[in-house]
Amino acid sequence: MTNLELIEKLKCIVLRSEEIEEAMKEVPRELFVPEECLEEAYGDYPIPIGHGQTISQPFTVVVMTEMLDVEPGHKILEIGAGSGWQAALLGHIVGPEGRVFTIDRNEELVKIARENVEKTGLNNVEIIHGDGTMGLEEEAPFDRIIITAATPRIPPPLTEQLKEGGKIVAPVGDMFRQEMFLYEKTRMGLRKTLNRGQYKFVPLVGRHGFRCRVW
Ligand code: SAH
Repeated sequence: MTNLELIEKLKCIVLRSEEIEEAMKEVPRELFVPEECLEEAYGDYPIPIGHGQTISQPFTVVVMTEMLDVEPGHKILEIGAGSGWQAALLGHIVGPEGRVFTIDRNEELVKIARENVEKTGLNNVEIIHGDGTMGLEEEAPFDRIIITAATPRIPPPLTEQLKEGGKIVAPVGDMFRQEMFLYEKTRMGLRKTLNRGQYKFVPLVGRHGFRCRVW
């Protein structure tokens, strides 16, 4: 399958936004998969990127990006950079006035994601090594936050670092099954506003994630 074929397929089932379509064309997934999987780059499924992690399925990336309701100029925080594709798509959509910060706890993946994003020519995407459940205090507040790993709850520091009126998209549940929720921050705190169904992500670990031996 080619990138255009994948995009056409996704347009039939989920892809509505022209901005996301444009981003998928300009930020091709093949730049973010391991060399030995190049032929699979445009299959609509997750692909292993090493270290027990995966690059997300295109269908899921489209759903989450659409839910996030991104506008040019937004400042976005992603938790779980992986090989960097989601962050780079967001970087394209927010444009030169916007910025994307993405955190990964795996140092090797941070290196890979930096190299991948570099290939796209985007210079508004920053990849940071650390525990994303603590957010990124020094760059807060954010317009949007996206968690691309399964999480038992929204880590409190992320709620604090979101602007009032800002949105969070995250797969929330247990280690085996999560539901894709959209939250909006009001004066009263976080409010769940949308549920786009069930997904299966690799776990978010760290201080406010799942208790895992690996962290
Ligand atoms: N967004 C990626 C997919 C991410 S896979 C894409 O565009 O394809 C989930 C990632 O979350 C993994 O790389 C894993 O290392 C990372 N992760 C898990 N717990 C984390 C934590 N506490 N902080 C930062 N990253 C974490």
